[in-house]
Amino acid sequence: MRLFSATIATETNTFSPLPTSIDGFKESVFLRPGEHPEDAPRMCTAPLFVARQRAAADGFTLIEGSCFAASPAGSVNRADYEFMRDEVLEQLRAALPLDGILFGLHGAMVAHGYDDVEGDLLERARAIVGPKCVIGVEYDPHCHMTLKRVRNADIIICYKEFPHTDVVDRAEDLLTLVLRTLRGEVKPVMSLYDCRQIGSYPTTLPLMRGFVDRMTALEGKDGILSVSAIHCFPYADVKELTGRILVVADGDKAKADALATRLGEEFVSMRGKTMPEFFSPKVGVKTGIDFNDAPVVIADPADNAGGGAPSDNTTILRELMAADAQDAAIGPIWDPIAVKLCFDGGQGARFPLRFGGKIGPASGQPVDAMVEVTALARDCWQSFGPTKVTLGDCAAVRIGGIDIVLITNRTQALGLELFTNLGIDPLTRKLLVVKSTNHFMAAFGPIAKKVIYVESDAPLARDYTKLTYTKIQRPIWPLDAETTPGLIF
Ligand SMILES: [Zn+2]
Repeated sequence: MRLFSATIATETNTFSPLPTSIDGFKESVFLRPGEHPEDAPRMCTAPLFVARQRAAADGFTLIEGSCFAASPAGSVNRADYEFMRDEVLEQLRAALPLDGILFGLHGAMVAHGYDDVEGDLLERARAIVGPKCVIGVEYDPHCHMTLKRVRNADIIICYKEFPHTDVVDRAEDLLTLVLRTLRGEVKPVMSLYDCRQIGSYPTTLPLMRGFVDRMTALEGKDGILSVSAIHCFPYADVKELTGRILVVADGDKAKADALATRLGEEFVSMRGKTMPEFFSPKVGVKTGIDFNDAPVVIADPADNAGGGAPSDNTTILRELMAADAQDAAIGPIWDPIAVKLCFDGGQGARFPLRFGGKIGPASGQPVDAMVEVTALARDCWQSFGPTKVTLGDCAAVRIGGIDIVLITNRTQALGLELFTNLGIDPLTRKLLVVKSTNHFMAAFGPIAKKVIYVESDAPLARDYTKLTYTKIQRPIWPLDAETTPGLIF
């Protein structure tokens, strides 16, 4: 049995002022066959990672393809996407004959000229391998689950958790189902229900937690193989941006249809009830300072690099400075030039530094301050569940009672290493301010005595009616009051 695996992944914010070129992939994940590290999967590469570990025991040959993944930003350079796609397709062609494919995709990648990158990749892959080859795909739930993708794959599984701590578990599920299909034990059929809604669904809050737990409990019995909730990625102007429910059943399409419809209707009934409460930066900082325990974690989701924001907005930092916050730490602020200047100054240097506020109007104004360089570290990493994410060279600077973590490789706050790499112990801090929507909860949730979400003036507005969509299929909630959800596949 011969299986092929590859990854092309990023999450494209089509409203972002930061274009994504091949350099963004080289900075994050750019691994040719055989180069994938042994220690942990990288962004979206869990299918290859898991298949490599299981190949011998499960009796198949793994043909490794390239793995390319970039931190979320604006639309991908067209020639660069075509280069990566054609490399993977050429590897696929060279690997024939194949029994199965395991793609690790994000599912919200947009390139100039390609609103549905993953649909394009899957359609071309299917044309090469033919109808009998079993194509399995693992996606991030913040994806656009287009009909083209469902038509050109046999088994689709999304991560269930947000924060995405189950990327390896879902890759294991995907490989298991592909192998069971190839052995003739199951005949997967898929159904897709379109909820016609845009939303955010952290699984750390009770309503979505319960929904995901019920989805999980349905799997592996009564002919149901897998259930996925597609959250959608709101910051993209593409036609099929919407929340959807996908069910994979064993041979019984009517059963898959019925369950997708039942869960889809439940998902629709959850509209407007799945997000945390948001405070203004001023109220959020004051509430954190006044809280009688520590650490308090304050999240700034609107400047989440994981959603394509620059992560250089300075509003929340200004509120900390205005409040003269003590024992506070904030990160990450993406500013490679400021990091370079800190390295030039050296540890212990005190000098006037301008940082942040660079990339666009939603970055705010830069901060000009006399800073002390308290720590410098080269080639840093942070953990996210079972995966590792690069931060590049990092610097910590202090202004009054506030330590600021400046990073080179743009990414969101995921692991405590963001701070500990620079000698900042999160447990000893009164306030920890993180730029992240909800992935920070995997590492910071367990140490937080209180979590506060703020809505800053950074680019990722929580109010989706503020976004200037032109291509999205209407009607859709909350842009339209009346919608017509239903089964579409
Ligand atoms: Zn996601």
